[in-house]
Amino acid sequence: MDSYSSIVRSLPFLVPFVAPEALERELGRPFRLRLGANESPFGISPKAIEAMERELPRSAWYGDPDSYDLRFALANRHGVSMENVLVGPGLDDLLLLSCRTFLDPGDVAVTSLGGYPTFAYGVEGVGGQVVRVPYSHDKNDLFGLAEAAREHGAKLVYLANPDNPSGSWHHGEAILAMVHELPADAVLLLDEAYYEYAPSESVPAIDVTHPQIVRLRTFSKIHGMAGQRIGYAFATAETVASFNKIRLHFGINRVAQAGALASLDDLEFQRQVIAEVERGREDYSRSADELGFTALPSATNFVTIDVGGFENAKRIVQELAKDGVFIRMPGAEPLNRCIRVTIGTPTQRAEFAEALRKVR
Ligand SMILES: *Cc1c(COP(=O)(O)O)cnc(C)c1O
Repeated sequence: MDSYSSIVRSLPFLVPFVAPEALERELGRPFRLRLGANESPFGISPKAIEAMERELPRSAWYGDPDSYDLRFALANRHGVSMENVLVGPGLDDLLLLSCRTFLDPGDVAVTSLGGYPTFAYGVEGVGGQVVRVPYSHDKNDLFGLAEAAREHGAKLVYLANPDNPSGSWHHGEAILAMVHELPADAVLLLDEAYYEYAPSESVPAIDVTHPQIVRLRTFSKIHGMAGQRIGYAFATAETVASFNKIRLHFGINRVAQAGALASLDDLEFQRQVIAEVERGREDYSRSADELGFTALPSATNFVTIDVGGFENAKRIVQELAKDGVFIRMPGAEPLNRCIRVTIGTPTQRAEFAEALRKVR
């Protein structure tokens, strides 16, 4: 049909992720272990639950489109002004919004080959062109990304730090040095979905005066609120104001805003989740060793395990699915020799180790 835009007509019928629910419908039964989407098995802060329950009956009202209270709290926590903070319905939405804000059709955006797929999906959705740079030693190749950005005159560069799906991280200093190497009008989208789990030296100091850096974060991971859809960005006031020209206003539901605000304050809950995730990484690493596999170092709430090759990784993912265990694997070389497993509770970790032993 000719009614569709030329961009939409040019695109394949693909989504960035096949959801576990879709896989369950295919399998004809629910998964018994859901360890594929890096969702938190440690739940939501009790304070956030309480705040959300209080807010639920007020769902007849729209949420505050300015997310004023949450932006105020985020600005205070991180020592920036409210005009440098934007709240959106999830980090993924902020990626798509960034593509709409920075790219014209035909513009180039750079990302890692096999990196987090929603960014490339967003670029292609606005008619942009994606240039992919292979991982180097199982990490994002900072030098390669900057070089590709210069070579192709890129407008956007995407970097997840810590990274999904490798779990690796770079020093904040190295990232700032890389920004220095970008074309003057290129912007780095720094996806920090996992920064809370990572060593502090991996997090560059927040500088909201730098027009080439946009920081993107989420309540989906450590705060355990993936289903509530809420994330935030730090950027210059001009960039935040530009996002505001075209973003979906009233897109963030008021229950999510109340929950995020309460969760942000529950530092004890966050500390507990971090400690549990650290234990989980050690457990998975030990299980991998015992089976003759190698866990890659992880600064996230998942562990990427080298199982010796693409065919083996694919087979393990499929056989585990048949056994009711949902995990994922990276999409491209060199990381597609690995499986990617979300940290579960201690019981789930033991169950996973047992399931992996059976299909090894
Ligand atoms: C989980 C994840 C996201 C998605 O965050 P939402 O706020 O749930 O949209 C974005 N980027 C990376 C790297 C992630 O792993």
